Amino acid sequence: MSDERILIVEDEQAIGDLIVYHLNREGYHQTLHVLTGEEALREVNSFHPNLILLDLMLPGMSGMDVCRRLKSDPSAASIPIIFLTAKSEESDIVVGLEMGADDYITKPFSNRLLIARMRSLLRRAAQTSPDESESFVKAGPIQMNLLSRQVRIDGNPVEFTVSEFNLLHLLVSNKDRVFTRNQLVMELRGDDYPVTERAMDVLVLGVRRKLKDHSVMIETIRGVGYRFTEK
Ligand code: CA
Repeated sequence: MSDERILIVEDEQAIGDLIVYHLNREGYHQTLHVLTGEEALREVNSFHPNLILLDLMLPGMSGMDVCRRLKSDPSAASIPIIFLTAKSEESDIVVGLEMGADDYITKPFSNRLLIARMRSLLRRAAQTSPDESESFVKAGPIQMNLLSRQVRIDGNPVEFTVSEFNLLHLLVSNKDRVFTRNQLVMELRGDDYPVTERAMDVLVLGVRRKLKDHSVMIETIRGVGYRFTEK
């Protein structure tokens, strides 16, 4: 049983009911289902959700507008948002992620997937911000020393360029988070860094080559971007 509060914004009553039903079964009993974006914005200030499941296609205010409003409000900006979208809304997904949504799920989705994504985000949100003095980052077979900027894979040292190191570090320290290409460009932008999305694909390819058998840990999300997973 979990005391985390989940706000569901979904204009189709039946879908909302179903989500609430499954969340209850998984131990999330503090749920609130609203039908419109306007209600969602009101409830954020009284219900204080730990996570929001936000349908993109809503009558009146769109899910995108709700996301934009929340992310520009300092008191709400840190609440994780998962977009619920139709498959055809790929370009909206990219815009949404760049606007600050944390993840998305395309309809129809399995409840298992929904719960897994929610747990991952809630876990991430509960973690205190990483200690700057922490000099090692580890993910499965990958170990990064942030001071010496050395990478070991399965215990063996592997050479990474500055850009590759920074990309790997960003992905590894944000496990399960989807980055759009443009977000990666923005995060890594610097004098010697690639500045185009195409260059980012090339950089990802380079990092994957060095990860060899573990290259699958960097997952390509078609039409959207990349995600690092440890599974
Ligand atoms: Ca809808």
